[in-house]
Amino acid sequence: MLGIYVHVPFCMRKCFYCAFDSLPKTKWNENFIEEYINCVCCEIERTSYTKSVDTIFFGGGTPSILSPKQIERIISKIDDKFGIMLNSEISMECNPFTVKGNLLSDFKNAGINRISIGGQSFDDSLLKKIGRLHSSFELSKTIEIACSLGFDSVGVDLIFGFPNYTKDILSSDIDKVLKFPIEHISLYMFMAEEGTLLGDKCINGDLEIPNDDLLVEQMEYAHGQLVKNGFCHYEISNFAKNNKFCRHNLKYWNFEEYLGFGSSACSFVNGERFKNISDPFQYCKNIVNSENIQEYTEKLPLKNSEGEFVMLKLRLASGLSCSEFYKIFGEDFEKVYFKELKFLIQNGFIEKKAINNDIFFYIPYNFFSIQSEIAKYFIIL
Ligand code: SF4
Repeated sequence: MLGIYVHVPFCMRKCFYCAFDSLPKTKWNENFIEEYINCVCCEIERTSYTKSVDTIFFGGGTPSILSPKQIERIISKIDDKFGIMLNSEISMECNPFTVKGNLLSDFKNAGINRISIGGQSFDDSLLKKIGRLHSSFELSKTIEIACSLGFDSVGVDLIFGFPNYTKDILSSDIDKVLKFPIEHISLYMFMAEEGTLLGDKCINGDLEIPNDDLLVEQMEYAHGQLVKNGFCHYEISNFAKNNKFCRHNLKYWNFEEYLGFGSSACSFVNGERFKNISDPFQYCKNIVNSENIQEYTEKLPLKNSEGEFVMLKLRLASGLSCSEFYKIFGEDFEKVYFKELKFLIQNGFIEKKAINNDIFFYIPYNFFSIQSEIAKYFIIL
């Protein structure tokens, strides 16, 4: 079953930490959004892949800038082209600043059944410092409305580890978010990205980010609080209650196939990866002129695919299954990575457990914050 990602590259303003491909309001208008939607529909129409779809994810950018009619148009185009299975997950990222009137209810009527609210924090002073346009009150109101509307799942994104960020802010954010009957929480760690306002200040030494020990302490605190409140820490940055995992994102981590539409969107089908042009204007121009819209495409050699598979699986608390590795690559995981596993297990970075005639390897949650460092052992062969 296929997952579909739709990229919506529009934001009201650039948040000070954000390196995602998105345009601030000064660079787009309603006419361009309409043109962009036409181009996305055209790209969907032209694709040669035709598997049935069971997850759709509207990400960005700020998908909640689109109108419910525009969202409905894209969903209906996907349905016409691929067929959307019953009980599919159809998620949308939503910025509290954009939520006015009946918007959330209209998105639900348009077909959205899972809402992921980009809150980042309930601390008004921090929200201002990181360039968010919404207040803590607007965030709470948005969560409240979303919870009352009966979406299949409501999730909230938080970020920790900003410059001068303290455990008190984290503790207060977690207490506040837990007051709502939500079933998914994403807790991301701030990354100082070059070319962003905050990132550059951190890189130049004008701002200081919490050191690794503090970040690990904060992550462990968050893990403890959320697990105590019934959440399962199922992926490095993601927690879910009542099995309300994000099915679409699980496709990425489980090495399953997905197709991305829109500027910057990435795809992985038939063992091939490709990415669309990042610039939305160029993307539209090329669609209109029937020219190539892919920025790059690559067929992963076996060794790279193996490394990538390991890297993705080790993001998950469920870890990597040796029988699955064998099924996909025809090789014995423990033999292929004998040296790396010996070192990582000896140092406690990876654990091994036997379940139902299979062997699993996983990273203990207290090392989740250095997952990418651990995963590198499997990529550089
Ligand atoms: S709203 Fe999201 S995508 Fe847009 S600038 Fe802020 S963090 Fe980036």
